[in-house]
Amino acid sequence: MNYIQLANLLYPNTTKTIQDYLDIYPARNLPKGAEVTRFAPSPTGFLHIGSFFGASIDKLLAKSTNGIFYIRLEDTDDKRTISNADKFALELLKKFNIYPTEGYLLDGQIGNYAPYKQSERVEIYNTFAKHLVAIGRAYPCFCKKRENKEEIMQDRAEQISNANTINSSDPCRELSLEQVQRHLQNGDKWALRFKSLGKEGEKFTFIDGAKGERVLAKNTIDYVIVKSNGVPVYHLAHVVDDTLMYTTTVVRGNEWLGTLPLHIEMFEALNITPPKYIHSALIVKKDDKTGNTRKISKRYDPEANMNYYLIKGYPIEAVNRYVLNLINSNYEPWAIANPNAKIEEYPFDITNLTTSDPMFDIAKLNDISKTVISKYSTEEALSKILEWAKEYSPEDYNIIANNKNLYSAVIGIDRGGERPRKDITMFSEVASLYDYILPNFNVDTVIDLGNVAKQNLLEFLQDYISNYTQSASNSEWFDKIKQFALNHNFADMKDYKKAPENYAGSISDAVKFVRYAITGRINTPELFTIMKTIGKTDCLSRLNHFVQLIKSS
Ligand code: GLU
Repeated sequence: MNYIQLANLLYPNTTKTIQDYLDIYPARNLPKGAEVTRFAPSPTGFLHIGSFFGASIDKLLAKSTNGIFYIRLEDTDDKRTISNADKFALELLKKFNIYPTEGYLLDGQIGNYAPYKQSERVEIYNTFAKHLVAIGRAYPCFCKKRENKEEIMQDRAEQISNANTINSSDPCRELSLEQVQRHLQNGDKWALRFKSLGKEGEKFTFIDGAKGERVLAKNTIDYVIVKSNGVPVYHLAHVVDDTLMYTTTVVRGNEWLGTLPLHIEMFEALNITPPKYIHSALIVKKDDKTGNTRKISKRYDPEANMNYYLIKGYPIEAVNRYVLNLINSNYEPWAIANPNAKIEEYPFDITNLTTSDPMFDIAKLNDISKTVISKYSTEEALSKILEWAKEYSPEDYNIIANNKNLYSAVIGIDRGGERPRKDITMFSEVASLYDYILPNFNVDTVIDLGNVAKQNLLEFLQDYISNYTQSASNSEWFDKIKQFALNHNFADMKDYKKAPENYAGSISDAVKFVRYAITGRINTPELFTIMKTIGKTDCLSRLNHFVQLIKSS
């Protein structure tokens, strides 16, 4: 077989060579050790947390080595393409600060290695495909796509039993030039298959950036690398694009480890050094129902979608910190040792990459988020909450914006200082978390009085109401409640504990009921400030209302 003739027959209009493209796209001029990474989403759905995890590694690796991170759009599978999925993914990456300056971006394709959109690179793929044909490492396959599954399975079974591999008896592998010509004249459609030279049982050693050294079986399968519509499949596009865009480390999902032997064989066939690979860990979670550990799933887990965190109003920084915690096991000790350090200061080191599948744990994210929010100044917190509400919850926006001073007062309690209060997990909680700060708030149920004597409680509250004055300070406020409570046989904790049967309750019980009457909660930020903010009239009306509720309970 004259492979050059075959190549010209299949790709008569492809005139450029691989070298031409290497001249058009010269190597990047980067310092030694600089890593070039890329995020290569397919526009087939929402931005999955697993993809985000990989993109975060891409960005960190490039940044920590003074390298380049770029985005490439892998849109060759038009059947699975969802319109605008690319735009949404880019917008999310931008919001989460994982957004490069090179590649397929919201403002267009930017950079010296464009086009970064695979559907615009078909002629480049043709050049590589033609080359592979010309060196005898790819061939056209005219086998019709058969609808009959049984027939295919039977063929396969025969092929396997005859030759141990599917490829070696591929009917199109050794077609003569004349046979190919005849097919083409008939207008028969063809796909291009890579010709594998791998032998069953051969192995090779591969070092994965996340998983370490692995011994893998060599590829033996003649995979399709260009579909019959002329569009390349991932395998060819990956080899071509990561070569011409000078990617040094490919970070990609674990699912690609299975075809890595094919990719390595293709690089070898092209005489190109393959990039390094990191097959990133899978994010897993404990299934709520079964308790089993499973891959986080876009079907069942809303938190698989990165948009979930924005809708809920988790601060970007919290999500980024949480993902860092999943990526690197030494992030957390660093964060604890450097509580005031910015996330950008984290000294990312690829050698600490998680090797086992990290467990998704919303409680951990919530914890990180509370800490992040607790560090905002009141103004910062309020503005972030409003910014969130404006986009995601007009209802919350109206409530908070129309009562800005009230919300600001309660958000501001115990902010700043060494041990700030940590009660906000996400912005979507704020309107209802502090609803008691609004003028029309009232409790509608009584809580269990426990061991507290009802009559004494009523008398204490009525006395407190009748003599109510706004206090100037927290200590004055507390002393006052304490005095009224003592007057009605509530005791301080020490005395109460010694002989509870002698008392109506403890002072802390008395405060608890005042707190509940005012806020409908057992735990709140400093009650003195809340009562001061609400004002005397409202406080009295809530206390009176509560007295009525107890009376009728
Ligand atoms: N488009 C591929 C995917 O979404 C990218 C794999 C890669 O990063 O190489 O799975």
